[in-house]
Amino acid sequence: MAAKARVGEDIKKPAVQPEWKPEPPMYGVANPAKRTSATLESQQHTSSPHRYWWLHGSEKVAGETLGGLGKRGTTINTLAKGRYWKVKGLKVDPNRWLTPAGAENHIRRANPRASNRQIQNTLESLNFMRETWLPTMRPGKGGAIISAHNSHPHARYKGGKTIFEHELTKPTMDGKTRLTKAAHLGDADKVDFIIVTDRNDYDAAVSGNAPFNVFYQPFDWSAKDDGSASYLAGVEGWRYFNPEVSLREGAREKQKAMIDWIETLNQ
Ligand SMILES: [Zn+2]
Repeated sequence: MAAKARVGEDIKKPAVQPEWKPEPPMYGVANPAKRTSATLESQQHTSSPHRYWWLHGSEKVAGETLGGLGKRGTTINTLAKGRYWKVKGLKVDPNRWLTPAGAENHIRRANPRASNRQIQNTLESLNFMRETWLPTMRPGKGGAIISAHNSHPHARYKGGKTIFEHELTKPTMDGKTRLTKAAHLGDADKVDFIIVTDRNDYDAAVSGNAPFNVFYQPFDWSAKDDGSASYLAGVEGWRYFNPEVSLREGAREKQKAMIDWIETLNQ
């Protein structure tokens, strides 16, 4: 009996096999079309309740700090070449889509020429992505969001304010500014600081004389919903920390020391 050709045998193999790379666990939006680059990846290293977020893929030192921590809690990384994602053709800051209303505020502002239809398409994708990711993002019992960022040492806001000075005042819905409730100044270097949103964490910084500048930024429903991680944390009632270190020599070590300190604040 003549041997039958097996299915697929007549398909020529390519001369060069494409290199196979294991894909990290990642998730984009519902329809990963060409015009969409929004991607997050997460990895649970230990059962620790903390969630370590690297939101701005362009802030490499923050990524290196978190990558160099060893196995701690669950990491959530943003994959982006620059600061922004493209979602259905529109520009999205990975730290400005985390609440529905905040995402809309941000997208309209960042894409002034977009049509309402485009904006709705993008929001739909982001809403789906948020719902999918919230269970992973939510810290466990006693845990916190630790969202590492970097700034430029000479970065200035409008009116010449440094980022540090800017953090002392925050914009409200009516366009005015309000004083941040309190700041513990433990570091003469006024470009590096930690933002905390929980009163107990702030009190611990003061009573323990933390060697860092620590801003207490309690959640304020009258503050503008900017779709940021801190706003989401406020809405959800999560403890939140933003250890922000400027890009200079020793930045990584300092940011790691901040995170080590944060982890001593067990609640
Ligand atoms: Zn950032």
